[in-house]
Amino acid sequence: MAVSITDYNLEYRCSTDDAWYTCAVVLDHVNHHLRVKFRDFVQSFYDEVFSVANFSTHSEIEQFLLRFRPVSKPVEDYECSRIIQGMLVCAIYRNKNEALYFDAVVDAVRYKAHKPEECLCSYLLCWQHGPGNGNVTKSTIEDICLITDGPIHPKLIEFANLMKQQLKGTFVQSQVFGSVGHSSHVGSSAELSDHDIDMGGVKTTDRHHYIMLENLEKDLCPLLMMDFIHEHTSITAESYVFPSLLAETYARGAIMVDSTTKLKRIYDFINNPNHVITSFSGR
Ligand SMILES: [Zn+2]
Repeated sequence: MAVSITDYNLEYRCSTDDAWYTCAVVLDHVNHHLRVKFRDFVQSFYDEVFSVANFSTHSEIEQFLLRFRPVSKPVEDYECSRIIQGMLVCAIYRNKNEALYFDAVVDAVRYKAHKPEECLCSYLLCWQHGPGNGNVTKSTIEDICLITDGPIHPKLIEFANLMKQQLKGTFVQSQVFGSVGHSSHVGSSAELSDHDIDMGGVKTTDRHHYIMLENLEKDLCPLLMMDFIHEHTSITAESYVFPSLLAETYARGAIMVDSTTKLKRIYDFINNPNHVITSFSGR
C-alpha cells in the first residue's frame, strides 16, 4: 500500500522496543485493519498491523491511542533556550550500536555563550522509558526533539470508532438474554422467591416489578446486563443471574424495576423481534 512522504506525520511508540518511530497509518476499511508503516523501514515486512478484533476493552483502545502522537520537532541551534529544565522531550538514547528515540525529562541545562548557528549547550536528560529508564545522561541539541501537541489523527479516530462499534457488537452478542420471547415472563413481586419463579406466574405489589429470563449464559455478569438495559432503554434496573446447577446448560435471571411503566419499556425492548440477542456460543 503506497503512502507519500507527507503521510509520515505521526510518531508511534513501538511495542517491541518501546521506542518512538516516525510512521504513517493506513486504514483498511474492508478488513478493519490499521497498518502502521515506519518511515525508516519502508518494506511492508516491518509494518505493524492491528485488527479491530485485537481489542476487547475501552481501556485497551485508549492505551493504544496513547502510543501515537504528532512527530516531535527537532530544535534549531539558535532555539536552544527553548529547552528548559523540567520539560519532557523526545531524544536519542545511545546504547551500544543503537540510537533510538525515547522520552526524557530535562534534568538540568548548561547554557554556554555561542553563536546562533552552533549551539554549545549541554542538557542532562532523565530517561522515562526504554533501556535507559531512570538513567541521567548528557545530550546535545541535535539529539533532542520537542514533543508537539495536536489533535488525534483522523485515521486513528476512525479506527477507534470501528473498535468501539465492535465492542458494542460484542456486548450485544455476548451479554445474552437468550430466547426471551418464550422463556421469560413478566411479573411483579415484593420479593423474588422460588414461588414467584413459576413460569407465567404474575405477582403484583406496588414495590417490585420484574421480568424473569431463562436461557442465559451461566457466566453472564448481572452488572453488564444492567448496563445493557440502561444503554438501550435508559432505565436503571436491578439485574440478577441466579446460580444454576452444574448439570444445567443455562442460567435464569431477572430484571427488576420499581414501576410498571419501566417494566413495560424493558419488556417491549427485549421482546421486540428485531432485537435478537445471542451469545458467542449461539445461545
Ligand atoms: Zn545553545
